[in-house]
Amino acid sequence: MDVQQEFKMRLKSDSAECMVPLAALLKSEFDSDKGQSPTVRYGQACHDKKGEDHMLAKVDCQRLPSDGSSTFGVFGVFDGHNGASAAIFSKENLLRNVLRALPITTSRDEWLAALPRALVAGFIKTDIDFQEKGETSGTTATLVLVDKWTVTVAAVGDSRCVLDASGGGVFALSVDHRFEENAEERKRVIDCGGEVCRLSLAGGAEIGPLRCWPGGLCLSRSIGDVDVGGFIVPIPHVKQIQLPKAGGRLIIASDGIWDALSCEKAAKCCRGLPAELAAKQVVKESLRARGLRDDTTCLVVDLLPPFGYVSQVPKSVNKRSNLKAIIARWRSKGSSTVVANKSNAAGFVEELFEAGSAKLAERLGSDPSLGVLNCAICQANMTLHDGVSVHAGSAFSTTNQTSTDGPFLCLTCKAKKDAMEGRP
Ligand SMILES: [Zn+2]
Repeated sequence: MDVQQEFKMRLKSDSAECMVPLAALLKSEFDSDKGQSPTVRYGQACHDKKGEDHMLAKVDCQRLPSDGSSTFGVFGVFDGHNGASAAIFSKENLLRNVLRALPITTSRDEWLAALPRALVAGFIKTDIDFQEKGETSGTTATLVLVDKWTVTVAAVGDSRCVLDASGGGVFALSVDHRFEENAEERKRVIDCGGEVCRLSLAGGAEIGPLRCWPGGLCLSRSIGDVDVGGFIVPIPHVKQIQLPKAGGRLIIASDGIWDALSCEKAAKCCRGLPAELAAKQVVKESLRARGLRDDTTCLVVDLLPPFGYVSQVPKSVNKRSNLKAIIARWRSKGSSTVVANKSNAAGFVEELFEAGSAKLAERLGSDPSLGVLNCAICQANMTLHDGVSVHAGSAFSTTNQTSTDGPFLCLTCKAKKDAMEGRP
């Protein structure tokens, strides 16, 4: 059965849901209680202007080698600037660096719990490796791991990941690291020694978005950008959620889309279409709204309920309440930093984890066993004397306190940490 046929069948089964006998409904609930996996379908579309956007889509990764039940999916969007090399490098290396930082374990829960920290390590390792090449290019990176109903999103830059939950509600799962919209990031970079202002013309007039100088980058976090300054950090905002069995749609896209469409508009314009057509529709809609000004890339990932799944909420009621909830949420919270609250009334999306700090010590925590024999970032082997605690003061620190608590970093990664924190 091809995607279109299957989609039509799902639509049929959805529309007939009010006639499903009670026995089938109970069976459906019983199956979903056993943790039945969603069917994952994805589609991608792009319209190039500069050729700097790149995408990643893999649905056959395995937590445990040769164990089909440990399969997970990985999706990514990388929007390069000053060339495509950082975007291509990240597409090819980021996932491997994240997986290397994960414990070898048969426990899915343990693996998922370790994921946020491994994502931080993997992003930094990829940045260090790319910067060593000496190329000046940089990239956003939005990496999404889908393991059964658990979705983990890690992102630097402004390639947003949005959830259109089937149970109701549209949520941004990432935060935009743009100086223009993110006051917290402006303060961080200024405190680190960067200058944030608009481009000045000869007459004194200021134009364009807020940028960081030297370099003139609009983004406060990225992978690459060796020429801009260490305070443009590769530490991702990470969010982990649990979707209800009704599933949902993820829209991962570069700013070519988000500069033209709100999260809600993007979600709305492709509802009812299968993933492949939905991605095309979102790109088409953004080009219609704003024209082709930038690379415009969209990846749509559907987590479809198990075949025969029956929603517990009647669709007609659901749709009305969704719309009200969406309007209220967007009115009250504005644009890009809306997040799903734990078990919110409209969406039934459970928030498992969220962290966005640019402080490495906070993000790696204080697990004394982590990084004793391997660097917590790059996994390089260390002897007991090589490692420096992530909690030790920086070379610029006035107090320069020492710490014997793990996690520990090798000297290269410690130097990276100091550079990211800038001047005290
Ligand atoms: Zn290291």
